[in-house]
Amino acid sequence: MISFFSPASQDHQSKERRKAQELKKTAWWKNQLAKGYCYHCKKRFSPQELTMDHLVPIVRGGRSSKKNCVPSCRSCNHQRKYFLLEEWALLKMQQLTVNSLDIHPKDFESISHQSQIHTHTEFQIEKESNGHESEL
Ligand SMILES: [Zn+2]
Repeated sequence: MISFFSPASQDHQSKERRKAQELKKTAWWKNQLAKGYCYHCKKRFSPQELTMDHLVPIVRGGRSSKKNCVPSCRSCNHQRKYFLLEEWALLKMQQLTVNSLDIHPKDFESISHQSQIHTHTEFQIEKESNGHESEL
């Protein structure tokens, strides 16, 4: 369902991209960057590390307005692509479910520990029988 959206017209996209370039030059935007944190992950970044992110992406019909533009780190901006915030939250939730299904590293440890004991025992037997052979 996420893949089936009709992108905004080329006209809208190029117009809003131009507006974004203009908005980036304003004192208002420089002020947003100077706050020094990413709107999404709330981590701190230097103004140079932050990019302009559209809450409603331009391709989804969003505009380059003060209300729609937030500073975002490159990682969040890249991850979200053209998804709406609700869709992005949903994707992250699904990712979490997939991760929780994975076997915990501790399970792997106990499995490999058991097989090590097994291998060790086999090795011991082999060594002992070898020893007998050399005695003969
Ligand atoms: Zn971020």
